[in-house]
Amino acid sequence: MIAPGSTIGILGGGQLGRMLALAAASMGYRVHVLAPEAELPAGDVAAVVTRAEYTDFAALEVFAASVDVVTFEFENIATTAIDFLAARGLVHPGSASLAVAQDRLAEKAFVERLGGTPAPYRGVETRAELDGAIAALGTPAVLKTRRMGYDGKGQARIMTPGDADAAWSTIGAQPAVLEAWVPFDHEFSVLLARRANGETAVYPVACNVHDGGILATSTVPAPAAVMAQVPAAAALALQVAEALGHVGVLCLEFFATADGPVFNEMAPRVHNSGHWTIEGCRASQFENHIRAVCGLPLGSTALTAADVVMRNLLGDDVHDWAHLLADPRAHLHLYGKSEVKPGRKMGHVTWL
Ligand code: AMP
Repeated sequence: MIAPGSTIGILGGGQLGRMLALAAASMGYRVHVLAPEAELPAGDVAAVVTRAEYTDFAALEVFAASVDVVTFEFENIATTAIDFLAARGLVHPGSASLAVAQDRLAEKAFVERLGGTPAPYRGVETRAELDGAIAALGTPAVLKTRRMGYDGKGQARIMTPGDADAAWSTIGAQPAVLEAWVPFDHEFSVLLARRANGETAVYPVACNVHDGGILATSTVPAPAAVMAQVPAAAALALQVAEALGHVGVLCLEFFATADGPVFNEMAPRVHNSGHWTIEGCRASQFENHIRAVCGLPLGSTALTAADVVMRNLLGDDVHDWAHLLADPRAHLHLYGKSEVKPGRKMGHVTWL
């Protein structure tokens, strides 16, 4: 058990790290953030900040010596860095979770082996293989980079086989996965926290709406059509967590279809679709992630309100803060980012 008063190292300095650091501080922990960017939303609320690349092993050595446990808020960190830190102390989640979630092809195959159903897919290594994959899956389809994609980046829609050239260049002509387009009724995510001793806590499921590949809203409770698919999806998420020996929060995203839940992707970390849990549950995803990585008993995921809605504040939405605060049911979270860019996650608001 990593007792309160200890220092938690967080790799990554964005808003997820910021909210993790706030939860850690409220439980009496100190946080040390390591990230390369000049502006760090998490750095503003951390006790110590190291500005370094995740591959700067000299910096990682010093970082490892100054913290009691390490976690991450960002999954595109080389597993070699995680293994390096693991050799010097505790890292949760471990590199098994990271390795699977970093590679869309590995992730789909892994979930399929556990009995889950991803969208029909094909691995695509070359431009020539893309034609074969389109012939096998048909159109519409979506081409996604195997690695480094997020918020709809590194993706291209293919409406007809003639779109192949453009899609291949849009994603930067790199190893990819072609997925059949899934005609879904809703999107939802299963969020859970797991401790090293196997204790798990599953959150109520949120129904998520994306716009242009970016999460727009999460709503709880999810509609009945989603709730009917939750038992199968939650069972899969628990199996994934168990198979990976995952410690911390894990998120699996699904499409609710006429044929049942279709797995989309997973994140081995706290997730945007769980931000509503800060006020909407007795223990938020951030608190339970900290509890899990420190080996503390998990907090209750019970709802604190009958209805909860979270909306992301993207780009210029952030300027609405005064108007949003005027609603007594609204809880405003701003991430302290100075540069407003279209689609950039600047904050979120949760209504109870
Ligand atoms: P991703 O980054 O893969 O989660 O994709 C972002 C969003 O794009 C998803 O949440 C969906 O709204 C949409 N999307 C991605 N892949 C598919 C698919 N195969 N079928 C339908 N919609 C998709």
